[in-house]
Amino acid sequence: MKAAVVHDFAEPLRVEEVPDPTPGDEQVLVRVEACGLCHTDIHAAHGEWPVKPEPPFIPGHEGVGIVEGVGPGNPHGLEVGMRVALPWLGYACGDCRYCNSGRETLCEKQINTGYGMDGGFAELAVGYARHVVRVPDEVDPLDAAPLTCAGVTTYKAVKESGARAADRVAVFGAGGLGHLAIQYARVTGAEVVAVDVNDERLATATELGAARVVNAKAEDPVAAIQAMGGADVAISTAVSPVAFEQAIGALARGGRLICVGLPAENDITVPIFQTVLGGLSLKGSIVGTHHDLEEVFELHRRGETRVLRAERRLEDVNEAIAEVLDGSAPEPRLVFDLQAVGPETTSGDRAGAVA
Ligand code: NAD
Ligand code: ZN
Ligand code: ZN
Repeated sequence: MKAAVVHDFAEPLRVEEVPDPTPGDEQVLVRVEACGLCHTDIHAAHGEWPVKPEPPFIPGHEGVGIVEGVGPGNPHGLEVGMRVALPWLGYACGDCRYCNSGRETLCEKQINTGYGMDGGFAELAVGYARHVVRVPDEVDPLDAAPLTCAGVTTYKAVKESGARAADRVAVFGAGGLGHLAIQYARVTGAEVVAVDVNDERLATATELGAARVVNAKAEDPVAAIQAMGGADVAISTAVSPVAFEQAIGALARGGRLICVGLPAENDITVPIFQTVLGGLSLKGSIVGTHHDLEEVFELHRRGETRVLRAERRLEDVNEAIAEVLDGSAPEPRLVFDLQAVGPETTSGDRAGAVA
């Protein structure tokens, strides 16, 4: 099969022929239709986090496709022909205190798709039957792909924040994750302020219902948001530590920061005095559970969310990574269309992007 493989953190990915994977015990083989390019895949390919994957590996944890084979053991109700998503939580033990309390994303034995096991930047991928998630027929696979990480992660972050209708929610970073965070915050009824450094992403944020946008390059987001009365909730998906510090500064008294982005530079400064007197909370939020992703697909099926994406061919993986890094991608999320044929990269228009 064809796959995009990381051989070395310092080198571009290589799109090459590799042996087809075989599904093991309680696994399914999936023919990938689409896989989103999450910024996490870029951190993975560059080996930027404290815990690194081991090359060679195939990134991709927004894979969506059709079950083509079932390995030995319990397939957990999956059958050949069903459409499924292969999320970041590729495996969790099912037995530990986290798995047994609806917090399987904290399982210490977890294996992550596209990181600890091969992912969706390939024509075929294997997933553990218990952890792949059925995609409803009404959801376009090219939409389902970004929902599989960007969607479930920000849906969970909004849940964790406890945002309510009268709250003001500041979303820092309006890219792949952020454009969906804005929409889930709007679903709660909250007022949304979007902060980014890219005017195109901010124009999209307005289109998606943000009441106010702030370009952090042109304006101090702390002053701008405090002038509105402060944010009850801040969700930082930005790939920059300074945005996390600004998000803390933008909080109203009693405000909660949900940390989601995972920039390569790992440290921020938290002011103790303001945190204590202001009764502020800081919380990390990592992806979402199997059930959270089912809810994300259901919201999309109902037309509550829009996935703004542009399609790319897997052969163009390195160019796509460059587009995300320099901010020139035409839409918040790039999605590899594994079924695309022909030499041309598909256009960045939004045909079919509305749920
Ligand atoms: P992205 O590149 O699509 O979006 C990041 C956005 O942040 C861009 O729009 C960029 O312009 C903006 N940005 C950069 N610097 C900024 C600044 N100083 N202030 C405000 N905005 C700024 O990336 P993505 O795919 O949305 O991923 C975002 C981050 O979230 C990555 O670090 C990724 O690894 C992480 N992530 C975390 C989880 C989780 O479970 N916690 C899940 C998926 C991704
Ligand atoms: Zn566990
Ligand atoms: Zn991701």
